[in-house]
Amino acid sequence: MLSGIPISRLIPPAYTYPLLRSMDAMRVGAGIAFLALSAAVLPSTLDAQAPPAPAARFLVVIDAAHGGEDLGGRFGNQPEKAYTLSLSVRLRSLLTARGFGVVTTRESDATVNADRRIEIANRANAQACISVHAAESGTGVHLFVSSLPPAEAARFHPWQTAQSAFVMRSNALAGELNAALKNSGITVTLGRTALPMIDSLMCPAVAVEVAPEQPANPDEGAQDAAGIDDPSYQAHVAEALAAALVEWRADGMGGRRP
Ligand SMILES: [Zn+2]
Repeated sequence: MLSGIPISRLIPPAYTYPLLRSMDAMRVGAGIAFLALSAAVLPSTLDAQAPPAPAARFLVVIDAAHGGEDLGGRFGNQPEKAYTLSLSVRLRSLLTARGFGVVTTRESDATVNADRRIEIANRANAQACISVHAAESGTGVHLFVSSLPPAEAARFHPWQTAQSAFVMRSNALAGELNAALKNSGITVTLGRTALPMIDSLMCPAVAVEVAPEQPANPDEGAQDAAGIDDPSYQAHVAEALAAALVEWRADGMGGRRP
């Protein structure tokens, strides 16, 4: 689960906004994130020996929220951390099969604090960052973009507000995800969030919170709807997210600079 605030300036009025409880207690230390780090640090004498740089790949960061001591929400048969990892692994494998470079913030049930996650994501220099959460309330998939106001790119970003330079492109990424999920018949809710993990990212970034499937017949309650522990539902969501990222890459929207 994640904390969300109901700002919907860029969201069509047809969407409703779920009231989500604040479950994530992430902390971000003070710091400065640097835009350019690695160039020209090697002595020129080494340049001739260096292997040719690999072809630039379209990189996606997948952050499986929670993990280790941080269970996340407790629902279904397992804690949230298990569902986020499962979805992350599914999405990674779909993207890898489609030629994406993928960086993940965790590959196991490990405790990874917010600072470390942000460091991993920002170092990756990715064209999209997806932070995966799960929820037992609501239906379908909730997409959250940072609630920071858009700002011009600057050479030095205060870490806590680095996402402000990417907010417009994060909105575009959320639009791509929204379209692909709806094409797959999955209900989508769009919102804004003040989550430190998202606010600190220097890439188009969306928090993706997966809730149980929308019942085909709401009059009969959730009896005929898949829960987030349903492997085929997880696969369905992961396929739609991968399809959206394929579109994101094809549209050329993924250039890192805002
Ligand atoms: Zn969560």
